[in-house]
Amino acid sequence: MATNVEVFTRKIVSENPATGEQLYEFDCASDDEVWTAVERAKLAQPGWNAIGVEKRVTYLKKFQSLLLDRKKDISEAITREAGKPYAEALLTEVLVVLDTTRFLIDTAYGFLRDQPVPHGNLAMKAKRGWIVREPHGVIGIIAPWNYPFSTPAAETLSALVTGNTVVLKPSEFTPGIGLELERLLREAGIPRDAFQVVVGDGRTGAALVESAVDKIVFTGSVATGKKVAQSAGARLIPVVLELGGKDPMLVLEDVDLDVASSAAVWGAFMNAGQTCLSVERCYVHRSIYPKFVEACVEKARKLHVGNGMDPEIEVGPMIHERQLRVVEEHVEDARAQGARVLVGGARLPEKGRNFYAPTVIADVTHDMKLMREETFGPVLPIAAFETEDEAVQLANDSEFGLAASVWTRNRKRGEEIARRINAGTVMVNDVLSCFGISEAPHGGSKASGIGRTHGRLGMEEMVRIKYMDSDLMPGMKKVWWYGYGEAFARQMEGFVDLLFTRSLMTKLRSGLKAAGVVKRKGQL
Ligand code: NAD
Repeated sequence: MATNVEVFTRKIVSENPATGEQLYEFDCASDDEVWTAVERAKLAQPGWNAIGVEKRVTYLKKFQSLLLDRKKDISEAITREAGKPYAEALLTEVLVVLDTTRFLIDTAYGFLRDQPVPHGNLAMKAKRGWIVREPHGVIGIIAPWNYPFSTPAAETLSALVTGNTVVLKPSEFTPGIGLELERLLREAGIPRDAFQVVVGDGRTGAALVESAVDKIVFTGSVATGKKVAQSAGARLIPVVLELGGKDPMLVLEDVDLDVASSAAVWGAFMNAGQTCLSVERCYVHRSIYPKFVEACVEKARKLHVGNGMDPEIEVGPMIHERQLRVVEEHVEDARAQGARVLVGGARLPEKGRNFYAPTVIADVTHDMKLMREETFGPVLPIAAFETEDEAVQLANDSEFGLAASVWTRNRKRGEEIARRINAGTVMVNDVLSCFGISEAPHGGSKASGIGRTHGRLGMEEMVRIKYMDSDLMPGMKKVWWYGYGEAFARQMEGFVDLLFTRSLMTKLRSGLKAAGVVKRKGQL
């Protein structure tokens, strides 16, 4: 049972960030409700696992076809609650989930097949071993608002297909999308207790971490991630933490300026800059710096800002006032320290209360918050570099390590630089799209998190590894068991030499010395 007594019912209200229209109001799930959901998920898990992967894959296929049919409705619901333009909702959320489902359908069976472990230890030759992948049990998933559908859906499907049951806590800003996911999964035939949603705020999330879940997959800010890790640490349950980023983009002197500047603008302003993989720092070779900055400014000016339901709109609102204030604080701090705000740099109240203009800022330095803390808004800060070494040093000078990109026409050079950057993903000549490759692992180093989602490595997070060993000679005592003595010690010396000496003569001599062990006397 939960230990904390709740006196008041807490409420969450979700709004359309473009219009302020109230969409949903929910009571936060109480600690007891969270615990009950987890208990139910625990009871349901053995049965869900027992139906086998082929059957679970059939549910995924049904889910995929339902999602395909409803792609428009789901994308619109995402735009309404999270604000991103409809095209982005379709491509970065619905399409990502359809493709993740395809990946899981294609690979789950092979992934869960026992994996033989051939070995080279002569003494153990009478043994066969293999790795068995077993579900953890109940996976608690805590999701953010910025990818309210693709993030929890990809994690949920990976957890379910590997035999876990799931309790999801969506963000308090996008509970409606979490419930859309629940509706789709239910309709696909997933049993009620195999996937449950508990709506609520941070406290509801904390209750989930403190409940009887067997693993937590958390996506959100570094500050919350640390709390989740501490709480999970107290129960010694494993966690995956997908946290923030401050992704650098390195633009070398030989790039196609038009292509690279378009990438910088899209990478910085997509989802109004509220993407963990957003370009948050742009470093450009001094020789092309003025031209590159000019191209970005020109392109930023042309962007259509407004309600994402309008298909012409390219940049939607930010999620809420608190996020706007962070952006304002970073921009003002940079301005005060001498950076040049070339376009944007202010709210757009005429569009609605949550709009901030796409902003390009030149001559930024690492003394500014804009280059050190996650801004998470439509801001593209640009700085110049002189040498490749300096560019790499600047890219690595961050507490974050989620992703990065290197831009050059010389792919070999780009790939060499990519190896020197400390990040979970480094793309050469593209930004962000790695999230759309279902086979690619997603996750960061340093403060950007622990563990991976997506791809085979994401599936590995959903299982615990069991090594199984089967002895082929059950009627024989092992030679290394008790009954030691002088003769045994000499035989074992011979055996060790036999295994590892490089001299043929010594090998032969050692083999003879060791042979006596087979007819060992006095063994217990
Ligand atoms: P957040 O940390 O405020 O909230 C994330 C989730 O945690 C929400 O569901 C929230 O209710 C819950 N929560 C809050 N306090 C909690 C607690 N004490 N215990 C358990 N759960 C708690 O983050 P956010 O503002 O929703 O999301 C934005 C952040 O997420 C950004 O930093 C972004 O970079 C990051 N993010 C990372 C990835 C990634 O894959 N690395 C993806 C998307 C977003």
